[in-house]
Amino acid sequence: MTNLSRRTVAFGLAAFAPTLSSFPTSNAAPAFGQSSTAMSAPPLARLRLGRFTVTALTDGFTDMPFGYFPGRTAHETEAAAKAEFAARPSGIRFMFNQYLIEDGEHRILIDAGPGGSLGKSGLLPQGLAALGLTCDQIDAIIITHMHQDHIGGLVAGAKANFPRAEVYIDRRDVSFWTDPAKRASAPDYLQNGFRLSADVIRLYPKLQAIDGEREIVRGVSIVDLTGHTPGHIGVRIADAGQSLLMVSDMLFPVVHPAMADVNFLFEQDRAAARAMRARFFPRAAEEGALIAATHMPFPGLGRIVSDNGRLRWLAAAWAFQD
Ligand SMILES: [Zn+2]
Repeated sequence: MTNLSRRTVAFGLAAFAPTLSSFPTSNAAPAFGQSSTAMSAPPLARLRLGRFTVTALTDGFTDMPFGYFPGRTAHETEAAAKAEFAARPSGIRFMFNQYLIEDGEHRILIDAGPGGSLGKSGLLPQGLAALGLTCDQIDAIIITHMHQDHIGGLVAGAKANFPRAEVYIDRRDVSFWTDPAKRASAPDYLQNGFRLSADVIRLYPKLQAIDGEREIVRGVSIVDLTGHTPGHIGVRIADAGQSLLMVSDMLFPVVHPAMADVNFLFEQDRAAARAMRARFFPRAAEEGALIAATHMPFPGLGRIVSDNGRLRWLAAAWAFQD
């Protein structure tokens, strides 16, 4: 349910006080595996950008506990979520959005989702099928960083699920996530990332470790957004005076962009992640940049805007924009 439709429900109930007791039920998230309808029809959102078609897909979602946001207490984060009608019994809902870029010659996917390894996920192949595509029709995949929720779909079922794809990953992330010493000293919740990274390296011999900002094809460029992980990158898609910047885990629902000092539990270098956001948020607001973000409510398209100095996320219209 979107924030908008949930707000409509709340307003409706305010006018009919006796039915208020039904509100918690309608607001409750179904437990994973209970709702078959959500699994059968993953959403798609498509926009044109010059000669590019960009399609947002989603591999699924999970709910992150309120205690996963260092910099605020669980209680504070829950209060912030409630203020946005985004508090669920098990936390804050994180989408796992992917973006398919097509220019008539190339099909480039940004990230692969958890591929069923986390929460309610594994929908990406269905989303591609709804577009008439199979995984072996993807020419290239840009992986924004090697966390489980971005690479799991590459190797789900212990095989290369995108056998024809060139895979691009920043060299700093490849180095970090294949370093045995880093793996040995990492907390439990990061071990899946190390394990899956080893699978990615083994199953994708054509993997290209990339250095710095570069163009992958004309109009599709890597942007250095180091912080969330050492080699965390974004992707800029630009043509005919229009652009879209896919920023991956630059921002998380509820806490960002208002609270640039809030981290996510999986960030090992918290100072670097905070510095990344402190640099990026005001600049994006000033530029009015159209942004795509992995974990924001589907399709994850929006802008950072300033309301008297307080930054907030403004979802962007995407349908019928031609
Ligand atoms: Zn993520």
